[in-house]
Amino acid sequence: MIAEIVVDIANNQVNRVFDYKVPKSYENIVDCGYRVKVPFGKRRLLGFIVNIKDNSDYDLSKLKEIDEILDLKPIITKEFIELSKYMVESYYTFYITALKTMIPTALKVKYLKRLHLINKDDVSEDIIKLFKNDYYVVKKNDNIINDLSKLISNNKIEIIDDFVDNLGSKKIKMVSLINSELDYKSPKAKMVVDYLEEIGEDIAQSSLIEDLNITQSVLMTLKSHGNISIYDYEIYRAPEISKVFDKKVILNEYQEKAYLSINSSLNKNDVFLLHGVCGSGKTEIYPKLIEDVINNGKEAIMLVPEITLTPQVTQRFKARFGEMVAVLHSRLSQGEKYDEWRRIINGHAKIVVGARSALFAPFKNLGLIVIDEEHEKSYIQDTNPKYDAINVAEFRAKYNNCPLILGSATPRIQSYKKALMGEYKLLELPIRANNKPQQTSMIIDMREELKNGNKKVFSKVLLDSLKNTYQKGEQSILFLNKRGFSTFVMCRSCGNVIKCPNCDVSLTYHKSDSSLICHYCGHKEPIPSKCPQCNSLYIRYVGNGTEKIVDALKVEIPGIRVLRIDYDTTKAKNSYDMMFDAFRRHEADVMVGTQIIAKGLDFPDVSLVGVINADIGLKMPMYDSAEITYDLLEQVSGRAGRAETDGNVIIQTYNPEHYSIKYAANHDYKGFYNEEIRTRKIAYNPPFSERVEIIVSSISQQAAHVEAVKIVNTLKIKSNDSIILGPIPDFRSKINGMYRFQITARFINNDALNALLFINEQYQNNKDVLVSIVRT
Ligand code: ADP
Ligand code: ZN
Ligand code: ZN
Repeated sequence: MIAEIVVDIANNQVNRVFDYKVPKSYENIVDCGYRVKVPFGKRRLLGFIVNIKDNSDYDLSKLKEIDEILDLKPIITKEFIELSKYMVESYYTFYITALKTMIPTALKVKYLKRLHLINKDDVSEDIIKLFKNDYYVVKKNDNIINDLSKLISNNKIEIIDDFVDNLGSKKIKMVSLINSELDYKSPKAKMVVDYLEEIGEDIAQSSLIEDLNITQSVLMTLKSHGNISIYDYEIYRAPEISKVFDKKVILNEYQEKAYLSINSSLNKNDVFLLHGVCGSGKTEIYPKLIEDVINNGKEAIMLVPEITLTPQVTQRFKARFGEMVAVLHSRLSQGEKYDEWRRIINGHAKIVVGARSALFAPFKNLGLIVIDEEHEKSYIQDTNPKYDAINVAEFRAKYNNCPLILGSATPRIQSYKKALMGEYKLLELPIRANNKPQQTSMIIDMREELKNGNKKVFSKVLLDSLKNTYQKGEQSILFLNKRGFSTFVMCRSCGNVIKCPNCDVSLTYHKSDSSLICHYCGHKEPIPSKCPQCNSLYIRYVGNGTEKIVDALKVEIPGIRVLRIDYDTTKAKNSYDMMFDAFRRHEADVMVGTQIIAKGLDFPDVSLVGVINADIGLKMPMYDSAEITYDLLEQVSGRAGRAETDGNVIIQTYNPEHYSIKYAANHDYKGFYNEEIRTRKIAYNPPFSERVEIIVSSISQQAAHVEAVKIVNTLKIKSNDSIILGPIPDFRSKINGMYRFQITARFINNDALNALLFINEQYQNNKDVLVSIVRT
């Protein structure tokens, strides 16, 4: 028997499976998804079995044997092995990296295999003897491992995980009634049996002893006569169950229609794009569908962006579904994550609510995946493997033949295009659930303010509105865009931004040599002293920080209470939640913040939202900067007027005529989409192409350059209608003594992507030149 194994070593030389012989003693145990220790060169390494076969293409006499198995049941499902292959091919990552993404960090460390015998029926004396101390620790190459493994799959032996015990997970003994007919006389025993019958459910041994004032020996006798069983029950350190009342709403006509169309495809692999304006009640639809899925005996995953995964959100789910809910997000400790993971793999949890990584919940009977706020950038992991949650969700939904719902007020351009083409099913919620119309935002031209002598951060209109709101006792939110802050150069008089003459994206400002560089093609020029468009000297726009805005507010409106929320004030765990709660309790009049506050939060008393600088996102040197800006403005303005007070949104900008600002002010997603998709098409940007960045690096500058040129040439031959830029020396070059060259490409068809897979493989055995490929 041969096992194909992915070895735990992530580098360019080793991204393939290796064949190992399975020792006879393990033949009946091992299967796909087991972790093993294998000899590799001079080392012993962790590996994952991804396939079992009878024969190898390699010389059998040269194959090494598996050294040890680390699991007594598989920890990775067949689905995840398939998924890892998909990730390797789609994201040019390593097998091992993909596999390790799917399991909790806690499982990446070695742990002991301590066993506990729970049922002695038909178990041989030899085995029972092993358990004379209650527990037995499996040794390396144990010759009875085969027998033990069988007993584990028959549920006679349970695996106790010391790692978790060390982290303090708690086990209690539970008593269960098996047979109420006593075959011996004992008033105390009779009392226990009657009591268990009466309560009709299992009870903790300690409570039973206390309730009935009996001794443990009474229970032991009952157990030996087969009247009761006593078993270990683990109390997981899952976050506390809430007492929040889940208010049930009656769906309006649009919600009902969306609900019914998804409900009628629960056994189909359809992808739905649920496009609903801010406050349209998208989040009321998900739990109803999840309930249906659970009633069908299946499981559900609901992804929300990390930042909106607040206690309110998770508590609502727990109030409705109780202990069936597992929560996964990055703020949990490793032990907590592991506990939740085990509740899922053991079948105790049926619903996972979580951030991106919750997508890897090891469900075996998945019935629904929801990705709320699907446009969020946090769904794309920015470290290796750089996967996109939507692609992985599509894979899992297909594998499990279940629906996937993508929900958003501002869908990705790519998703909306797919919906229009019929690849996704489009469901629309065009009105707010509270029936209030969405108000048009007011656009303030900051160039005019400057002309009129106002150099302050607040326009006159915004300042007056802030005063007004404060006097009425209502709340305001001021949003400051800090994304890409100071990465470009803009003129304050005319709004002009210096762009690359070749690529039509903003040039990036480099402080070190006061130059402007194009991210895409390497074009470089000095910072001009005057605006090339209007000759103004206000060319260096220096943005304001949140502190400066807070100070300005306090000067302009004495007595106003301001809460500042940005990266600096929210470093501590849970501090956003506390600050948002404080604001909800009206402990401040104004909340000033960055991106963090733009997400789906409900603040009932907010009647004014001001955007200090709508431009910044727009000027990011990225092809999708207009989309990012539109999303932000729409999400921010959605904060106003969600509840009883009327909303009022003021957007300050140096580019009032830009389409993303104009359409966002009118909440006209379709208008924005139509204009944006035209722009994308002209420049061959996604969704009309696949963007890929290739970094070629080497100790030798010449070697890196030569190989980079070769790659460009290969790609050009493979797909002559692609747009390939480079190789250009990467501005981060000479990191770790390596010279780096960058190639960026827009591929119009898939031939070039296949060529890339080939290139990726080709360089895997090259010790001198490293090639890394990332989809952008
Ligand atoms: P979205 O996620 O689409 O922005 P939410 O689901 O957060 O919208 O709903 C916005 C508000 O409207 C919430 O306070 C919610 O409780 C309320 N709501 C949603 N649907 C209904 C309904 N059918 N009837 C009454 N209130 C509703
Ligand atoms: Zn100018
Ligand atoms: Zn350029």
